[in-house]
Amino acid sequence: MELEGKNILVVGLARTGVPVARFLAERGAMVTVTDMKDEEALVDSIRKLEGLTVNYVLGRHDPHNFLMADLIVVSPGVPMDMKHLAMARAQGRRIISEIELAANFIEAPLVAITGTNGKTTTTTLIGEIFKGAGYYTFVGGNIGDPLIDLVESGERVERVVAEISSFQLEGIERFRPKVAVLLNITEDHLDRYAGMQEYIDAKGRIFENQQPSDFAVLNADDPLVWAFADRVAAAVFPMSQKKELAEGIFHRDGLITFRHNGREECFPTANFRLKGVHNIENIMAALAATLLMGCDAERALAVVAGFAGLPHRMELVRTLNNVGWYEDSKATNVGSVEKALASFINITLIAGGKDKGGSYGPLAPLVRERVSHMVLIGEAKERINEELGALTDTHLAGSLEEAVLLAHDLTEPGGVVLFSPACSSFDMFRDYEERAERYKSLVRALPGEESR
Ligand code: ADP
Repeated sequence: MELEGKNILVVGLARTGVPVARFLAERGAMVTVTDMKDEEALVDSIRKLEGLTVNYVLGRHDPHNFLMADLIVVSPGVPMDMKHLAMARAQGRRIISEIELAANFIEAPLVAITGTNGKTTTTTLIGEIFKGAGYYTFVGGNIGDPLIDLVESGERVERVVAEISSFQLEGIERFRPKVAVLLNITEDHLDRYAGMQEYIDAKGRIFENQQPSDFAVLNADDPLVWAFADRVAAAVFPMSQKKELAEGIFHRDGLITFRHNGREECFPTANFRLKGVHNIENIMAALAATLLMGCDAERALAVVAGFAGLPHRMELVRTLNNVGWYEDSKATNVGSVEKALASFINITLIAGGKDKGGSYGPLAPLVRERVSHMVLIGEAKERINEELGALTDTHLAGSLEEAVLLAHDLTEPGGVVLFSPACSSFDMFRDYEERAERYKSLVRALPGEESR
């Protein structure tokens, strides 16, 4: 990709825009950065670019910059359908996302992970397995460091693992992972997409440039994912918790089996620290991607068995009076709550937050079967109550504090309290992490006897 002398517009400064602008400027491009935030709000980012020739248009967007650019690089978080981008697109301007820019300059084999849920867990685990196998590995993308950081650093690595969101996939042209993983597709972000099909299409773009020598790791148990099997050019590598596979990776009776071209490897799950049906899915995806990319099974098993998972994803906070209190604040959509409910019985579910426009209906069978009490909070509480309230003993609470106290009173010994909101946090909190910390401190403050 030729950058020298090109007129390039970077839309969105922040975490990703800074290294993008620096990389482009160092490569001799004429860089303009535009952001709706003003100079005062962006002072730290601007300081990081000191000494480089960069033109700033801040606190506003100027149509002129969009129409005159040879190339527009969009930071994650900036909607691809934003008015000025739509106008530039209509005028034939070239618009790409940061992953497209970065991938053009990455030589190491790339494993890319997408899906509605499990991306961060799976991406982290894949990185750990590669590192455990001795590969010099960069892990980033939507989590941690953007891919452009790697390119900019000039470091030579042996493996790259990237978590990819559907938004970033909207801005690719030639992005081609050696292994692309699609974990699952359930309703999410319907506040940002016109409909479910548009969201599915965006996810599917991860396979768009793959060739038969690449791999597509597909969840065969998820019909929306499996629908891609006969549409991708890459070699399909299925994973399943429901059926045995002659080629692929599957889970049955406490054993994960990997089969590829006559190679067979077995992984007993009994000692895994990660719990829950969804984590079996994430582990199978991670084993598939890494074994296909040269990792040894024995070392991979050691890493998987010792992997404790990430905070805010079904994390056990404490066990009080023989009740397990779980914090799953990262469960911001129905699909993730479905898997959390499938992992327990006798549940007191605390849910609610900012509604994202999808249906809570898919939770109905699990609520009926496994949820003894439900406590609803936030903006979405009435809607959830309408859809699910009649299926179990349901209470509405005015705050998270009230919800925790109610759950404490309602839950019998032997049960679990699960805070798995199915909504985003922005109605009451800064983000899901703040929501998680509030819940944890409320739970830690509860009186009672600590049990194992
Ligand atoms: P993402 O990066 O896709 O948001 P995370 O690993 O951060 O995924 O997990 C987000 C939420 O989804 C958590 O509540 C977690 O328990 C749940 N989860 C993790 N893996 C899966 C999966 N494979 N299917 C459904 N839910 C999952």
